[in-house]
Amino acid sequence: MTTERIRHFLETRRPEGPCLIVDLDVVEENYNAYRKALPESRIFYAVKANPAPEVLRLLAGLGSSFDCASVPEIEMAMNAGAEPNRISFGNTIKKERDIARAFELGVRLFAVDAVEEVEKVARAAPGARVFCRILADGAGAEWPLSRKFGCEPEMAVDVLQHAHDLGLRAWGVSFHVGSQQTNPEAWDGALASAATIFGAMRKRGIELGMVNMGGGFPARYLKDVPSATQYGMAIFGALRRHFGNHIPETIIEPGRGMVGSAGTIKAEVVLVSKKAANDNVRWVYLDIGKFGGLAETMEEAIRYDIRTPRDMDAKAPCVVAGPTCDSADVLYEKTPYNLPLSLTVGDEILIEGTGAYTTTYSAIAFNGFPPLASYVI
Ligand SMILES: *Cc1c(COP(=O)(O)O)cnc(C)c1O
Repeated sequence: MTTERIRHFLETRRPEGPCLIVDLDVVEENYNAYRKALPESRIFYAVKANPAPEVLRLLAGLGSSFDCASVPEIEMAMNAGAEPNRISFGNTIKKERDIARAFELGVRLFAVDAVEEVEKVARAAPGARVFCRILADGAGAEWPLSRKFGCEPEMAVDVLQHAHDLGLRAWGVSFHVGSQQTNPEAWDGALASAATIFGAMRKRGIELGMVNMGGGFPARYLKDVPSATQYGMAIFGALRRHFGNHIPETIIEPGRGMVGSAGTIKAEVVLVSKKAANDNVRWVYLDIGKFGGLAETMEEAIRYDIRTPRDMDAKAPCVVAGPTCDSADVLYEKTPYNLPLSLTVGDEILIEGTGAYTTTYSAIAFNGFPPLASYVI
């Protein structure tokens, strides 16, 4: 949805070129919805979803903590007002000197998924808390995560034991059920594994204290998605099922769900054409594409809601493409997108639900196109 405030901004400011407008009121509503849905869980906003200083400042002021993947993200969160005890270095792949820098800045919570990474943390951040990320299968997610992060639950026990042996605080387990996870029950299997790891560690005399339940909370694109409350209920049910009366401290790390629905991209139609006179599919070229912020259209994974000023007119299937000279810069082709037959060059369109993973994915001047401009209101 494009809010009234965003519409007003676009009408009065008339910004030139493709740009993202983020409405902070929606970010605040989303934050409060997660607070209410999972009142016992600490919220660590995944900074990479949208690191605009205004967004970080708002969330820091609301009491949010931050999941950071690099030293610059840690510095951004701190500049926004977050103390180091509200920051998690959640990337399992870190240079030892970056761990040392984060430790120097006061960060004491680190993600690991291998004994080799534990070694680095033990040297560069002595005594810090670590949590071990486990693999999750990502079923039900529209932007599933690969096997890049996490280890098998059996291995997590050894990773945490190693952390303990090296003087770190073996603190917990984390997972990510896949981004744009449309099934609220998807947390169940990973929480079962987490509970098993807690039990195995207890047998070894090590009491874990925390489960980091990651992100995955969806934004609405073309289809409705379950509410934060529904996710909260399903997740709390799974916690009860697997941890009984001993539910540990929990963390959630919403990225997309926090900011996705708060943003709308304004873009422009540059060309509408056909490849042959008798083609029944038109090609619609926009001034924004995969390299200008819409990278999540890769393999047509995320299908954005595109609004045009002519949505009342009859529609027909189109291939939608970006403006660069890279032939990969096609957004929707396998499943063409229905757009008005009357759509024409110069029309301004709105791409809704684009507050997450757009500015951060935008290339710096590929083909001379500037990175996606952003206004936070
Ligand atoms: C990207 C990321 C998130 C946010 O995921 P969403 O699906 O956008 O909520 C959370 N945790 C970690 C570790 C991440 O890398």
